[in-house]
Amino acid sequence: MGAKRPKVPSDLRRRVLIEAGHRCAIPTCRSTPVEIAHIVPWAKVRTHEFKNLIALCPTCHARFDDPHGAIDRTAMRQYKANLNPLLIAASVGMPEQIGLLAAYQEFRMRFSSWITSELEHAAMKRKRRSSPEVVEEIRLKSIDCFAWALGATLDFQRVWENYDASGLAGAIFFHVAEWSDELAESPLPLPKIIARRDIMEEISEASSELHLAVCEAVGF
Ligand SMILES: [Zn+2]
Repeated sequence: MGAKRPKVPSDLRRRVLIEAGHRCAIPTCRSTPVEIAHIVPWAKVRTHEFKNLIALCPTCHARFDDPHGAIDRTAMRQYKANLNPLLIAASVGMPEQIGLLAAYQEFRMRFSSWITSELEHAAMKRKRRSSPEVVEEIRLKSIDCFAWALGATLDFQRVWENYDASGLAGAIFFHVAEWSDELAESPLPLPKIIARRDIMEEISEASSELHLAVCEAVGF
């Protein structure tokens, strides 16, 4: 006899909704209204846990539940990792978690600007008509972004000193550094490098692992 599925408790439901800003968590969608979806299906986990729940609109929810659908679980975990848990701590009154989550948020923002600027730089270098001044300007910007990401990693590791998340953040830093070296040195056209998905996948896996470690540590 299977146990009956209980409702998602209202405070947990509220946290999941706040995390996604009450909109569909898929960044290109962001529709309303939203439903609470299980990343690993309820039938398998038989529990409602923050780290496994995500807000989706009915259309994206149906696409995700469709076994032949285009959205797989790895992608869904990445969407979850892209959401902002700092919002929840601030709005449901978890003052002791705010410092930890603020360092995490800063880490994510700095990495996203670093990756964006490396891509911009690589694209600009490969354009035949880019002026050397513009390429140089973007190169300097990506060096700044690298330095900020390094600073954010060190800050993160100081604040998260006693947690596993600290080591994971360091690993992400090294993966991204490796990826950006490859981007800078490779003579291949940009789409070919981006199509080599191995490093990007490692980065994406490490970042969802980090997200789960953060959620666990702050008690979500
Ligand atoms: Zn949607």
